[in-house]
Formats: sequence, C-alpha cells, structure tokens
Amino acid sequence: MSVENNIKKYREILKPFGAQLIAVSKTKPKEDLLQAYEAGQLAFGENKVQELTEKAEALPKDSEWHMIGHLQRNKVKYIAPFVHLIHAVDSDRLLKEIDKQAEKNERIIPCLLQVFIAKEESKFGFSEEELLDFLKSEDFKNLKNIKVVGLMGMATNTDDMQRVKSEFTGLKALFEQIKAEIQSENLEMKELSMGMTSDYQVACEAGSTMVRIGSAIFGGRNYNQ
Ligand SMILES: *Cc1c(COP(=O)(O)O)cnc(C)c1O
Repeated sequence: MSVENNIKKYREILKPFGAQLIAVSKTKPKEDLLQAYEAGQLAFGENKVQELTEKAEALPKDSEWHMIGHLQRNKVKYIAPFVHLIHAVDSDRLLKEIDKQAEKNERIIPCLLQVFIAKEESKFGFSEEELLDFLKSEDFKNLKNIKVVGLMGMATNTDDMQRVKSEFTGLKALFEQIKAEIQSENLEMKELSMGMTSDYQVACEAGSTMVRIGSAIFGGRNYNQ
C-alpha cells in the first residue's frame, strides 16, 4: 500500500477511539513525508533533533513537529522556536531547560512527561512517585514557559499483550489521578501518548489520545532506531 493509503487507513482505524495519528517519519526521506502531507497528515514524529529540524525546513509550513525521542538538554535550543509538542520529557532538568529556551523564544512549549512503565526494561522516564512529587513541587509551578499537557509511555516490547495492556492501563490511571488531584497554571492533562505499530490497538482501548505509528505507514526501517 502507498503511504497515502496507509495514512487514510489508520485515520479510519483511530476515528472511533478519538485518537490522533502522529506519523513517525524517522529515517524516511522527505518525499515520503510529502506523500503523507498530500493525504492530509500534518503531525510528524521524529526522534533526532537534526533530522527533525531539516525536515521541518523542507516540508510546508503548516506541518507540526513532534519530538518523540530522548532529548538532550544541549539540543533543546534548536527545536524551541517551532516544535509543536515534546513527547518524552524524562527529567525535571530537561523540563527546566525547555522552559528557559521557550522564554528566549517568547513562547510556551507544550510537553508530555514520560513515565517509565516497562518495568523490566531500561527505558527513560519518571517513576510514578517521582512524577507526583515533582508535579506538586514549587519548582514545577515556577516554570512559566512550558505547559504539561499530559503523559507519554512506551510499553515493554513483547508479544504478551496482557502485559502491554496492564502497563497502558496503569498509565491511564496515573493520568486520571494527576488530573483529579493536582492543580497548576502550567498543567492541563488532556493528552496520553501511547501506542505504536505493534501495540496501538491495546493502547487505544486503554485510552490513548495520540498514537505514534511509523513502520505501518512508511514501511520498515533499515536500522533499528
Ligand atoms: C520509532 C518510534 C515509534 C514508532 O515505531 P513503529 O514501531 O515504527 O510504529 C513510536 N514511538 C517512539 C518513541 C519511537 O521512537
């Protein structure tokens, strides 16, 4: 199937869940992204700062750039002027740097905090406890140029869908808990970014609002990243 058809297909699949499609275009040439754009796809996900910046320059100006990968503090400045949403904020130090760069650019940058849900794998993110403590702290409340709009999580890479389901369901529960219990000017819990090609279905059933799909749309990648 063509990229265009894949975009249409996944839009249809996600519609009943009300989840947004983020087209993960990492490693793919800009021609592929343009095909997706022609099919009406504006939201693109990339995991490397340089690649994201280059593609943002090459694509039409109304496309939206989602940074979905691990972000180093010293690279925040390159995406701060235009990034649409940063999905994988995994430490308070990173969030503070984003706040600083957002202020320089006179904007507020929407962010998702990444939670460590794949218990036996070494993945980035806050633990539940760290996250709750941080969101209740003065340190967090003082950040005026970021807005935390939700959470992001990656499940264990396994065929055991029961396990994936319990990890996603746990993240959804944490999302609801924060929404109910924590108030702050810079916090508005509305997005839950979970699910990729192998597990988007389970993620949608668990309440995902954004799925990050790459290989099912653009085909497999040559190297694993
Ligand atoms: C690559 C990537 C995806 C998409 O993976 P696919 O399996 O190709 O759908 C989603 N989220 C993150 C954080 C990624 O790095």
